[in-house]
Amino acid sequence: MSTSAHTAGAILTVDLDGIVENWRTLQARVAPADCAAVVKADAYGLGVAAVAPALQAAGCRDFFVATIDEGLALREILTPGAATDPECAPPADIYVLNGLIPGCEDALIARAVQPVLNDLLEVDAWTAAARRHGRALPAALQLDTGMSRLGLTPDDQQIVTNDPQRLAGIRLTAIISHLACADELAHPLNVSQLNCFRDILTRMPPARASLANSAGIFLGLGYHGRLVRPGIALYGGAPLPYQANPMRPVVRLDARVLQVRAIDAGTTVGYGATHQSAARERIATLSAGYADGILRSLSNRGTGYVGEKLVRLVGRVSMDLMTFDVSAVPESEVQPGTFVELIGPHVPIDTVAAEAGTIAYEILTSLGRRYHRVYTRGGC
Ligand SMILES: *Cc1c(COP(=O)(O)O)cnc(C)c1O
Repeated sequence: MSTSAHTAGAILTVDLDGIVENWRTLQARVAPADCAAVVKADAYGLGVAAVAPALQAAGCRDFFVATIDEGLALREILTPGAATDPECAPPADIYVLNGLIPGCEDALIARAVQPVLNDLLEVDAWTAAARRHGRALPAALQLDTGMSRLGLTPDDQQIVTNDPQRLAGIRLTAIISHLACADELAHPLNVSQLNCFRDILTRMPPARASLANSAGIFLGLGYHGRLVRPGIALYGGAPLPYQANPMRPVVRLDARVLQVRAIDAGTTVGYGATHQSAARERIATLSAGYADGILRSLSNRGTGYVGEKLVRLVGRVSMDLMTFDVSAVPESEVQPGTFVELIGPHVPIDTVAAEAGTIAYEILTSLGRRYHRVYTRGGC
């Protein structure tokens, strides 16, 4: 959908330099380990086509996506023409976290996209592809150390350590595992997963060990291994709750005021009449709603800013509209055409998430397709 700043109901601004700075902050923190970038789900909704090249230009060499489709699309973004020019050495490694779907081997090989092998069937399919192609094929291997979601189970791990030939033809670029409770500093599962991972690595072929997501990076040096995999921290989310957020905010969302009306005491607002004014109020109607990813759970809970003044969402969020009580803002400062900050310096994504009863990941990945998107270098 084509939008412009003049016609759009709301404007989403993404600060690419902020994302790069966050990556550099994390890379400096984990050096000499490598810092990858997790850019699955369209770089957490912010636009992988803009985010990934900016990170690659800054020196990021490892990119994780969720699906094969995302991996193939990312190769085109990072190295246009790579699929048709075998001489063009891929400058970045791309890993597909969700693994290998049988029959997709050749598509991955053609674009130098690596599967994260998650079970023995995938391992066997990749070794078979290596035999067919007559060369070693790169891949990452995931071990389940306590998440019970993806990766070789403890039984599978034993089969591989007893029979290293099982991995013949695979050039292991990373061995990864994923923490279940990294955002809870003191959770006993963190140490237990770390110990389990270290133990199994001693019996695996050498490859970069990778355990930490954003939160895991802040659990301490022991969790860094040789490769860390931050996602949310790159996009300004707080890696650990209840602690000062060391990351720079990189997203701004401003929605347009369509109308402002004064309502008398006792008047109701919106579907279900869930807000009733206690006194005379001024209500501003904004051009964004749940179809744009403004979660409906923000009804009667969300906050925004008009300039430096806090305003509250009243009534239910509807599909394309929402209503704010702007009584505290002088009339001259909130008019049709005024923009209300819904995410930005006054309203961090973690605050929006708390108000909506969810996590910043869901706020970002819900960001809608109708926004006019602006990518800036140097702050937003
Ligand atoms: C999504 C994901 C990450 C990134 O997690 P963040 O919490 O966003 O840093 C890392 N590793 C795996 C396996 C993931 O699925």
